[in-house]
Amino acid sequence: MVLDLKSVFADEGKEIIIDYSLDMSDTDYAGGYPLKTPVSVKGRVRSHAGTVELILDMNYTYTAPCDRCGTETVRDYGVSFERMLATSIEGEESDTIIAVPDMMLDVDELVFTEVFLSLPRKHLCSETCKGYCLGCGKNLNEGDCECGKTDTDPRLSKLKELLDN
Ligand SMILES: [Zn+2]
Ligand SMILES: [Zn+2]
Repeated sequence: MVLDLKSVFADEGKEIIIDYSLDMSDTDYAGGYPLKTPVSVKGRVRSHAGTVELILDMNYTYTAPCDRCGTETVRDYGVSFERMLATSIEGEESDTIIAVPDMMLDVDELVFTEVFLSLPRKHLCSETCKGYCLGCGKNLNEGDCECGKTDTDPRLSKLKELLDN
């Protein structure tokens, strides 16, 4: 979605409401495609006291296997974004101001970037997920296994592997 902001820059108090959803299902992240349903985008562009401000609220559902046990886990996340818009920026580019020299704003591009940067680094089915047994592969959330290998921390087992060799 590309917004034409000429009316906002022209009229004090003018507001454009943003309310749409963006398909990001082809976003490749952490070995999969976690954004299976469209990202909800709500916000507004408003001229106010001689400036133009942009507010975006993005909400998405993240679907991926749990990092520890591999169970498909669905979780909702939200990220907000607030910037000033200007037709030209004096001096240094800034983190708080976006330049829109032609008064056209590519909202999709902003949403893609912000959502991508906000994707979770850690994704667990629960904070207390016990993971799976590295000996027999049993999901330890479903109960203890009987193979006797209870070391479930992948970093420790990697270390153990190195020491054993
Ligand atoms: Zn888990
Ligand atoms: Zn086991």
